[in-house]
Amino acid sequence: MLTVLHTLANSVGLFNKNSATSAATAANPSQTINKALQNLHLVRKIILSQNLEESQEQLLGQISVSALASLSYDQLQDLANALIATITTSTKELTHILTQLRSSTAVEKTIITTTTTRTTSKTVTGDDDNVSITSSEGPSSTVTVVDENDHLSLSVQSVLSLGIQTETNGLQLTSGNLAVEHVAYSLSDLVFVYPSTSSQSYLGHASEQWSKAGVANATGAVLAPQVLKMSTRANAASAILGAVTSQEAKNSSLSALASSAAIVNMIPNLYQIAQSSTPIVFHVAAESVDADLNVLRGDYSDVLVARETGLLYLTSNSVQEAYDVSILAHAIASSTSQSIIHILDGVQTSQQVEAIKTVKDQDVAAFIKHERNKSVLVQDEDSLVTAIEGIFDRAATLLDRRYKAFEYTGPENAETVVVVLGPANSVAKNLGDKVGVLNIRLYRPWSFSHFLKAIPSTAKKVIVVEPVANAVAHGPIFLDVSASFNLWTGAKRPTVINAKYGLHGSSLSQGWLKALVHQAIGSQGKLDLATVVAEADQLQEEVKQVIFWETTASASVSAHVARHFHSALGHRVQHSSSVNSFRHTAVIETRLQFSKSQAVEFVNSALGDYAFVQDVSVLAEYNIVDSLRSGAVLLLNAPWSVEELETKTSAAFRHALGAKQIQVLLIDFANVTKQFGLSGAGETLLGQITFLKTHSSNLREAAFDAIEHQYETSNSKLFKDLILNLVEQVDKEVIEVPQNPNWLAITLEEADQAALALPKHVQPTVRAIANAFDGSLASTAADVQVVEEGEVALGKISSWHKAAWQLMFSQAYDTKHTLSDEDHSYLVSVSENRRLTPTTYDRNVFHLEFDTTGTGLRYEIGDALGIHGWNDTQEVLDFIEFYGEKPDTVVLVPRAVPKNAPEGTQARHQTNTFLQILQQTLDLFGRPSKRFYADLIPYATNSSEKERLAYLISPEGAEEFKARVDETLTHADVLREFPSAHPSTPQLINMLPPIKPRHYSIASSQKAHPNSVHLLVVAVEWTAPISAKARFGQCTRYLTSLGVGAKVTVSIKSSVMKLPTSPHQPVIMAGLGTGMAPFRAFIQERAWQKSQGIEVGPMVLYFGSRNRSNEYLYGEELEAYHADGLLTHLRLAFSRDQREKVYIQQKMAEDGTLLHKYLLDSKLNGHFYLCGPTWPAGDVKDAIVQSFMDGESCAVVDANRIVNKLKEEERYVLEVY
Ligand SMILES: Cc1cc2nc3c(=O)[nH]c(=O)nc-3n(C[C@H](O)[C@H](O)[C@H](O)COP(=O)(O)OP(=O)(O)OC[C@H]3O[C@@H](n4cnc5c(N)ncnc54)[C@H](O)[C@@H]3O)c2cc1C
Repeated sequence: MLTVLHTLANSVGLFNKNSATSAATAANPSQTINKALQNLHLVRKIILSQNLEESQEQLLGQISVSALASLSYDQLQDLANALIATITTSTKELTHILTQLRSSTAVEKTIITTTTTRTTSKTVTGDDDNVSITSSEGPSSTVTVVDENDHLSLSVQSVLSLGIQTETNGLQLTSGNLAVEHVAYSLSDLVFVYPSTSSQSYLGHASEQWSKAGVANATGAVLAPQVLKMSTRANAASAILGAVTSQEAKNSSLSALASSAAIVNMIPNLYQIAQSSTPIVFHVAAESVDADLNVLRGDYSDVLVARETGLLYLTSNSVQEAYDVSILAHAIASSTSQSIIHILDGVQTSQQVEAIKTVKDQDVAAFIKHERNKSVLVQDEDSLVTAIEGIFDRAATLLDRRYKAFEYTGPENAETVVVVLGPANSVAKNLGDKVGVLNIRLYRPWSFSHFLKAIPSTAKKVIVVEPVANAVAHGPIFLDVSASFNLWTGAKRPTVINAKYGLHGSSLSQGWLKALVHQAIGSQGKLDLATVVAEADQLQEEVKQVIFWETTASASVSAHVARHFHSALGHRVQHSSSVNSFRHTAVIETRLQFSKSQAVEFVNSALGDYAFVQDVSVLAEYNIVDSLRSGAVLLLNAPWSVEELETKTSAAFRHALGAKQIQVLLIDFANVTKQFGLSGAGETLLGQITFLKTHSSNLREAAFDAIEHQYETSNSKLFKDLILNLVEQVDKEVIEVPQNPNWLAITLEEADQAALALPKHVQPTVRAIANAFDGSLASTAADVQVVEEGEVALGKISSWHKAAWQLMFSQAYDTKHTLSDEDHSYLVSVSENRRLTPTTYDRNVFHLEFDTTGTGLRYEIGDALGIHGWNDTQEVLDFIEFYGEKPDTVVLVPRAVPKNAPEGTQARHQTNTFLQILQQTLDLFGRPSKRFYADLIPYATNSSEKERLAYLISPEGAEEFKARVDETLTHADVLREFPSAHPSTPQLINMLPPIKPRHYSIASSQKAHPNSVHLLVVAVEWTAPISAKARFGQCTRYLTSLGVGAKVTVSIKSSVMKLPTSPHQPVIMAGLGTGMAPFRAFIQERAWQKSQGIEVGPMVLYFGSRNRSNEYLYGEELEAYHADGLLTHLRLAFSRDQREKVYIQQKMAEDGTLLHKYLLDSKLNGHFYLCGPTWPAGDVKDAIVQSFMDGESCAVVDANRIVNKLKEEERYVLEVY
C-alpha cells in the first residue's frame, strides 16, 4: 500500500508537508524530509530570538533545505550561532560553514521538492518554419511520491492547460482570449496590450508571456514579436500612432489587444490612425461598467462610441468565431490597408472555454499573404463591403465556415426579424415560427444595400436588440437600421422597434428575448419592457449545466472537469467564469454547460442541475439555490453532519432546499486531504473525483481514465492505486442528506428577507469599491496591490482618481486584494480578548480567541499563529504631522517579488494612503539598522547632522550605536532627531522595512474548537534606559487593543511541537508563563481523544510563573483536568510564593524516577517538551540528565548522549522564544 507521502518546500503540490506523518518508521523518507523542515524551523527560531538583522534573514533564506536535513541538533545550533555571530557573513562564508558542518555527516537523501510553475512553452515541429505555439496558462505542478520502501517511485506532472494545443481529434480546447491572442500574436511583429477589465487574465496577458519566452510568430519573424504593455489613459494609442506613422512600421504587422475602456480613451488618435491607411487590428474585449461599477454583460456601448472614427468594425460571438474573425480581421487589414476593430465579448467569450477547430498557423500566414498580394482599392462603402465579403468567401475553405457582413438565419418568409450585434446573438435562438435573426458581423462600414438584401422581403417587424442606458434615447444600431429602411423597395416598410436591454432590471437572456419577441409581434411598435422582464423566466429554455462555486485557491476543479467532458466523452462544452475578487478570498462562479450534441446552443442564463460548492462561506453571500432547477444536486464541502446543516445554514436557505427538493450532499474535503496528505494539485484531484462520483453523468469510468492521462506519471500503477483509494474514500465520506419535510414548513420571517435577496450570481465587478474609500476596507487589513506598466521601483505619490481607476479595473491592472505578504493568510475576527492576570498586577497576560468560521483556516496541534499587527494609530498620526505630510496622501508602493516567484515575475505595486502604509505595513517604530542611518546621510542638509550620522555608523561610533540600540530607539526617533535629513515621502517609504508578523503558539485544539483558535499572550512593555520613556512591543500592543469583532490577518506556521503518534505515549510538558500555550492545546487534544473512547497515556505538566495569585494561567482548567485524571501529574512552581525561589527544574529533579521511566522505558517511549523563555533550558536539561544518570547508573557524558539521541528522535523538543 501506498504510504504517503510528503512534499517539501513550496506549498502547492499534491501532498502536504504538514501531513508528513510521524507514524512513519525511521527509515521512511518522509521523516527525513519532515526533519529538514523542523530543522529549518529550529534554526530560524533560534536566530529570530536574537533580533536578526535583515541581511542575516536573507542569508537564511538562501540555505538549501536539503543541507539542513542532514544536520544534527547540535550542528544546527552551531549553524544558528554562526549566523548570529556575524552580521557580515556573506553567502560564501555561510556556504563554507554549511559545508564544514555537513562534512561530518553523510547526506543520506536528496530531498525532492515539489515545484509549481506557470508554463508557457513553444513546440517546434518539423523545420524551423513549422512552429506551433503550445501555451498553458494554468499552473503545472510536479509532485513526488515516495513509498514505504524508500524508493522514489512516482513522479507526477500535471499541467492544466487551456491554451491552444494540438489535440488528437483536431479540436482544441481554448478560451476566447487565448484564441484571439494566438492569432494576433502569430500574425504580428508588434503587439500593443491595453489590459482588459472583465477577465481574470486579460486579453494580451498570454502574449506578454509568449514574448518573454521568446516564442516566434508564424510570419517567420526570427525574434519573438515585441509585446508592449500600455496603460489606459487619456489620449491612449499615441504610441500606436507613433508606430503607424514611422517609416519602419510601415512594413510591420501590428495589432493591439485592448479593453473597451482603452478604446474610449483612444478616440482622438483613432481618427488619425484610420486616415493613415495602416493595416492594424484592434482586438477589443468589450465590457461596460454601470454607475454602480458593475460590469454589464453583453453591453458593447463603450466600444461602439468609436464607430465614427473611420475604423472597420467586426464582431464575433463565440470562441470559435473569435478565432475565425481574428484571422479574417488580419486578412482584411492586409488586403484593404484599413484599421479594424474586432470586438469580442470581454465578459463572456473572453473567459469561455470551448473546443474549437483551428487552422495551422502557417496556413493562416499563407492565406494572409495571399490576400495582401491581392490588395484591393475601394471607392465607396458598398464596394469595400463587397471586397470584404470576397475575403470571407475565400476564407470559407480555410475556416470551414462562411461569414457574411449581415448573417440571416431563420425562415425565408419570416415576418419578424430580430437584429442583433454581439452577445445578443447567443441568446437569439428558437424565438418563434416566423421569426428570423439577423446578426451584424460587419458593423462598420454599414452598407445599406447589404443590410437590406439580408432582410426577408416578408418582414413586417424588425426588432433591434441593443443595450441602451436610458429609456428615451435610441441606440446607434437602431438608427442605422431605421436609416437603411428609407431605401426599402419592398411592399410595406417594416416597423422598426428598438428593444433595449439594461432597463427595468432586464438582462440579456433567451427568456427575455423570447418574451420580447412575443410581445412585439402583437404590438404596434411600442413595448412594455417591464412586462417583458416579468415573463422572461418562464420562457427560458432548459439546458443542462453544472455550477461551480470555487475560491481562487482551488479554482481549477471546474476547468479539469470541462476538459474531461471534452476529451473523455467528446462533449461540446462551454466553461465560463465570473470572479468576485473584492472579497478576502476571491469567489469564482463557473457555469459549465455540456452536451453530446455538437449542434446544441448554450444559453447564458440557464438553471443548473448540479452545484459544487467548494467553500460554504459563499452560502451567506449568494443565493445559490435560486440558480438551480428543482431536484438538482447540491454538493457542499463542509465538516458538517446532517444535524449541523440545520444549525449552520439560514432558514431561507433550507426553505429553498425544501421548495426545490434539492438533493444535498456533504463532504469534508479537509478530512480527506488530511488523511491522504493532499494539498494543492492533490486537492484539485480530490475535487474532480468527488464530482465524478456524485454527478449523474455517464462520465465516470471514462473520466477516471482521463484523470490518469491528464497527469504524466512515472508509475501509473501507483497512481491508479492512489485514485482508487481516493474514490473509495470519497464513497465513504459523502453524506446524503435526506429531504427534510420541515424545510418546506419553515415560515420565513422578515429577518430572512435579506438571505432571500442575496445575489444569485457573482457579478464580475468591484462592488466593494465604495468600501475601499469608506475605510471599511482598511479596517479589514486588506490592501490592494497594483501592477503598473513601467513603474519605477520606488514608492510614489498617486491620486485618489488613479487609485479608483485601478480598483475599478482590477483585472486590467491585475489588482489583487490580499491580506498580507504571506500567501496563506486568513482574515479572522476576535471573539474574546480576556485579561488573565489581575489589573493590579504589572504584567498583562491575556487570552485571545479568534473566530475562524468560513475562513478555511486549519491548524495542527503545536502550530503557531502568525499575527500581522498594526502600529498604533495615534503615534503614526503624530509622526505624519511631524513629517509635514498628510495622512490621506495616496502612495503607490512596490512590493517585493516573493522569493519563490517564477522567473520574470514583475514587482507588484500597492496603493495605500500614507497613514495606512505606516500603520499597517512599514515598521516605523522598529529598530533602525545601520543601513537606515547610512541611507539618511545624503538627505541631511545640516552638516553637523550629516557628520553625526556618519560617526554613529563608523567603527568609532560603535559603542554609542550599541547604547542607542539598548535605548530601543526607533526609525521615527531617528527621523525626529535628525530633522534636516528629510527624504521625500516615497523615498522614506522605500527606506523603511516592512513590519514582520509575530508568532504565537496556538493554545487550542481544532478538534475541541473547530471554528476558533486561541492564544495566550503576554503584553511586552519596557522602559527605555536613558530617556525613561515607556516602550511597547509592536504586536502585543496591537493585540491588547483589539475588541471583539475586530478583524485580524493571520497565518499558520508549522512547528516542532507535535504530540507523539500514539495516544498512549507519555507526554511530559514544561512551560513557563506563556510557554503554557501549546500545552493547553496538547491537553485539549488528549481530552478530545479520551471523549472519543480512546485510551490516553499519562500527561505530566510542570508549570512555572511568579506567583499563584497573579499568574496561575488557566489554573482552573488545569485543576479540572487534573481532577479528571487526564493530567496525571500537575507540578507547579511559583517562584515568588515563598522565601526561597522555586523553579520548575527543582520540581523535575524531585520526579527523577518518573522522568526516567516515562522517557527511557522502551514500552512507553515518552516525549519531553519545554516551551517559553530560553533561560531555564540549561537547568531543565540538567534535571533530566540527572534523572538518567540515576536511573541508568551512567556517567554525565552518557546521560547527555541519551538526551541528544532523544532530540534526534524528536522526543526532546524545545520551543523557546
Ligand atoms: C514559535 C514562537 C512561539 C511564540 N509563542 C508565544 C506565545 O504563545 N505567547 C507570547 O506571548 N509570545 C510568544 N512568542 C513571542 C512573540 O512572537 C513575540 O516575540 C512577542 O509577543 C513580542 O512581540 P512584540 O511585537 O509585542 O514586541 P517587539 O516589538 O517585537 O519587541 C520585542 C523585543 O524586541 C526588542 N526591540 C523592540 N523594538 C526595538 C528597537 N527599536 N530597538 C531595539 N530593540 C527593540 C526589545 O527587546 C523588545 O522587548 C512566540 C515566539 C515564537 C518564535
